Amino acid sequence: MFHLLRNVACPESLLSSPDRFGGERRDGLRHGDLLIHDDRLLGFTRSHPAEARILSCDGRMVLPPLIEPHLHLDKAYTIHRLPDFGGDLLSAINAQEADKANWTDGDLRLRAERAMQELLAAGVGLARSHVDWGHGADPTRVPRAWDILSEVAQDWRGRVDLQLSCLPAIDILADPDAGPRIAARMAQSGGVLGAWCLGHDRRAEGFAAAFRLAEEFGLNLDFHVDEGQGRDLDGLRLIADMALRTGFKGSVLCGHAVSLMDMDGDALSRLLDAMARAGIALCALPTTNLFLQSRGTGTPDRRGITRLIEAAEVGVQTCLGTDNVQDAFFPLGRHDPLATLSAAVPALHLTAPLAAHLPLVSTRAAAAMGARPAHIDQLPASALWLAEARTVPELLSYLPHRVPLRDIIAAPAG
Ligand SMILES: [Zn+2]
Repeated sequence: MFHLLRNVACPESLLSSPDRFGGERRDGLRHGDLLIHDDRLLGFTRSHPAEARILSCDGRMVLPPLIEPHLHLDKAYTIHRLPDFGGDLLSAINAQEADKANWTDGDLRLRAERAMQELLAAGVGLARSHVDWGHGADPTRVPRAWDILSEVAQDWRGRVDLQLSCLPAIDILADPDAGPRIAARMAQSGGVLGAWCLGHDRRAEGFAAAFRLAEEFGLNLDFHVDEGQGRDLDGLRLIADMALRTGFKGSVLCGHAVSLMDMDGDALSRLLDAMARAGIALCALPTTNLFLQSRGTGTPDRRGITRLIEAAEVGVQTCLGTDNVQDAFFPLGRHDPLATLSAAVPALHLTAPLAAHLPLVSTRAAAAMGARPAHIDQLPASALWLAEARTVPELLSYLPHRVPLRDIIAAPAG
């Protein structure tokens, strides 16, 4: 069975072989009539089999499943219980900590389900959520949020695949009792070994333990690192050194790294080069970082975001994450990677054509998580989405409705 999607657009940056795929080039997009045989994309065509069913698409845009590498589903949608938001990172941590008294099974599940619905509507195929671990509680005990989010992940498998990553302080991984127990639990439940580090005393030991445990249990790593400004934060450098020293082969994703904004010259070049050589990926989280960093009195005059552009230039795998949604760390937002890319355009001064940056929330984000990046021309038609937008500025301005392409193909004629 042949289908012809008449007049669609595909972002060139999301095609593995744009020239073979064909189409007319304009503003970082390929336009034309897209031929599908059974579930396979054959590319843009000027002629088509007479029996092809023609579906008029009116210039709409084909997208692959989007990838969301950094969320906090245990915290999302708690803002209505936190009227005094608006402090710095530590104030947000403390406010969210106090809200944990409300984290019943029902509360956690309801909020996580709402997030999953939003991710599905946004066309997300794979997402990763961090889950607070320890934070004043016994770190050898599995937090209730971990169990509830694991159930949610199970329920949603195949619609939105949800990975979970534990989020203890890096000191906890250095603990000879807690570290191996947490890693074993990650291995048992398909999780990612994560931790946060902001100048913690035992950070060097903690990172050494994290790499050792990840190797032993076959885990990927994901760090919240150096989420603050100032030249004394060295977490990212310790991670890069450890990755190079151990030759770790799993994926290592570092989020935040706002401290890179305070580095320049040779020190910055050396660190970014080490990250590139070690295969460490960098995730920028524009909304939370712009909201919390450099908080003082009055208008901020510093931009709290990592140096994503310089990192990409030297070959570091880069991506964007949504981070916090309507919680103590960021009072607004939705679980939509396109909204995050939209926020990143002014935050990071992303340049035209904007279509070139879509991999930050799709193929590059997948690679950063250690997953296989899937381009439009490598996927079956049934895995793709159609967005109600004719240009990428429209796509990122209106965050339009997205429908699974399979629904359009399966719709009755007429
Ligand atoms: Zn985070």
